[in-house]
Amino acid sequence: MEIKIEKVAKSRLETVDLSQLVFGKYFSDHMFMMDFENEEWKNPRIVPFDNICFKPSLTALHYGQSIFEGMKAYKNQQGEPKIFRPKEHLERLNKSAVRMAMPEFPEAMFLEALSALMQLDKDWIPTINIDDSLYIRPVMFATDTTLGLHPSEKFCFIIFCSPASSYYSQPLKVLMSNEYVRAFPGGVGSAKAAGNYAATMLPLKQARAQGYDQLLWMDGVEFKSTQEIGTMNVFFVIDDRVITPLLDGTILDGITRRSVIELLKDKGYFVQERRTGIGELMNAYKNGKLEDAFGTGTAASLAHIAEMKYGEQIISLPDISTRKLSTSIKTELAEIKRGLRPDTKGWMY
Ligand SMILES: *Cc1c(COP(=O)(O)O)cnc(C)c1O
Repeated sequence: MEIKIEKVAKSRLETVDLSQLVFGKYFSDHMFMMDFENEEWKNPRIVPFDNICFKPSLTALHYGQSIFEGMKAYKNQQGEPKIFRPKEHLERLNKSAVRMAMPEFPEAMFLEALSALMQLDKDWIPTINIDDSLYIRPVMFATDTTLGLHPSEKFCFIIFCSPASSYYSQPLKVLMSNEYVRAFPGGVGSAKAAGNYAATMLPLKQARAQGYDQLLWMDGVEFKSTQEIGTMNVFFVIDDRVITPLLDGTILDGITRRSVIELLKDKGYFVQERRTGIGELMNAYKNGKLEDAFGTGTAASLAHIAEMKYGEQIISLPDISTRKLSTSIKTELAEIKRGLRPDTKGWMY
């Protein structure tokens, strides 16, 4: 693939204070773009990060035929850019694409695009704190411009980057939703599709007004079994057993989830992927057996939960200092990503 490269005249890097980052607020100098037309991907190019221009009748705008990914590049101890499990992110992007009637993106092109982009923008990878990274956001959207409801035949694929630091500084308060639903069997819950997030804006706004950071989504049939949090998978530790909801098509198959499960199993922990509901959690809580609850995702890595609320019932999780298991996994993951520990699993590209 021949990528046409148009470099910025002058980098904006010096205008950004990498020690004071707000997630997703600043963007690196360049972005990769490619178009899908007549059944093929064409015109691969890297251009300065800037506005893009489309007609108001753009299919993606009206009907939400749009998907995305989120992954991170870190600098190792030699100062080389390393991306965490990019092939698996592409695999998931392609699964989202299939579900939303969009074209898959070839792996070789994806890796080449990432390498070219990292070559140009690697100085945007912050290294001050251990969790510092360059967040990489691939997005694909439908670019037909006829209004009739139809699967688009034209698409645009963009990869752009944003320097990132730790996502949450405090343990989270989550509201277990018994009113709104994120996903249900047969829906698109397992796709990283734009509409999934649009549907959560109002509930999120209401949760925040009540002092909660995020929603913990419950199943769409009985509102009893847990699904996931905002953009994170959820884990519970009950009586030394680790439980996380199974991949039943209503939740995202998180790469961080997968990595955490693998690290836990390596340490000899018993990890169950199964349904767990409000009843089991309340019981465990009342019996003093609910030891930990946390979310996992690329943006936040591993985020502890301080409190969960369901209706009038409140579950307060123990002090972070007692949560040694999740804290050690969080550190281990961060050290692998930054090259402070050997990457025995070949996770860093
Ligand atoms: C992205 C995302 C996750 C986390 O996936 P990772 O691959 O770990 O980043 C979990 N749930 C939802 C809804 C997401 O959008």
